[in-house]
Amino acid sequence: MKYYLLFGPPGAGKGTQAKLMVEKYNYHHVSTGDLLRQEIAKGTELGKIAKQLIDNGNFVDDSIVVKMIENEIAQNPHVAGFLFDGFPRTTAQAEILDKMLEKGGDSVEKVISIIISDKLVFERIQHRAHIEGRKDDAAPEIIQTRINTYHKKTEPLIEYYKKQGKYNEINGEGTIEEIFAKIEELL
Ligand code: ADP
Repeated sequence: MKYYLLFGPPGAGKGTQAKLMVEKYNYHHVSTGDLLRQEIAKGTELGKIAKQLIDNGNFVDDSIVVKMIENEIAQNPHVAGFLFDGFPRTTAQAEILDKMLEKGGDSVEKVISIIISDKLVFERIQHRAHIEGRKDDAAPEIIQTRINTYHKKTEPLIEYYKKQGKYNEINGEGTIEEIFAKIEELL
């Protein structure tokens, strides 16, 4: 089984590129953000816990997202590959993922990182707020919290995956088609 990771700050365009990758390569897309929003929409216990954290721009506990990922892997044994989007987001999550995949004799194939400036993160998320109506997109303070958390907790994963020789970085400041063409080269 092949496991690809889409990496980058909030608003980098991971979800947009994931859709195109799924159309072309038929991978199974797993966005932890989308899964959490589904739990919130269904009003589950997990969703109630997640909502508070997400709306304030904070991460959900590693144990929760890890369990969601385990379920997705277990429920989709016959897919062409997995495309994780928004996971792992902390070094602890990356270490757990490595161990999880190791058990099945697998490992992460490639990390595709889409990087944009903090300024563009801000602009894109403020724009998205009008379209998708996400509470965590609406307030500038919350956006700033997410940017800060990205730098502090998620960015260290760049070194983590560079050490493993799996890190591939793409400049996310271009058209959707330009960025997808760069992803196609990597795949
Ligand atoms: P964005 O890419 O704009 O940050 P996502 O949809 O990927 O949006 O995530 C939305 C929110 O869901 C995050 O801010 C965080 O609270 C929560 N979340 C998603 N993935 C994870 C994860 N791997 N670990 C912890 N929290 C997560």
